[in-house]
Amino acid sequence: MVEHAVLENPYECCGLLTSRGQTIDGVYPCVNEVQSRTRFSIPAAQLFEFFRYAREHELTFAGIYHSHPDGDPTPSHLDVAEFHYPEVSYWIISLRRGRPSVNCYRWDHDAGGFVPVMFQIVSARMRHDLTPLPDLSISKILSVVPHRESDPNL
Ligand SMILES: [Zn+2]
Repeated sequence: MVEHAVLENPYECCGLLTSRGQTIDGVYPCVNEVQSRTRFSIPAAQLFEFFRYAREHELTFAGIYHSHPDGDPTPSHLDVAEFHYPEVSYWIISLRRGRPSVNCYRWDHDAGGFVPVMFQIVSARMRHDLTPLPDLSISKILSVVPHRESDPNL
């Protein structure tokens, strides 16, 4: 995720995450169709492709990530307004001052907003067996992907 954020800088990057059990082990970089420093939007075609791929491979949709090239890793007003998936984790990568940092949130219905979630990186090994979405080859994509991240609250 951090590599993707650096690659897309100065624009926001965005992507989707899958898990097996409680461990997130799939990172699917997407295209930010609005090419903005303060907003992101995943193309509908990529969302569709992602959900089909996840279903075919019995992967659980576990999260959405995007970057804040200039801001802190906290949800912006736009993030709150445009969030559509309250059942998954929400990851923000900040590149502020050249020091990447990552926060994770989930949507809390009672609080009516995002609340922070603790997570633990259990392995930073690259998983070359993970197949990126076929449709994503049209974007400038990382060869592969991820760090495995565990989120006890997922
Ligand atoms: Zn944001």
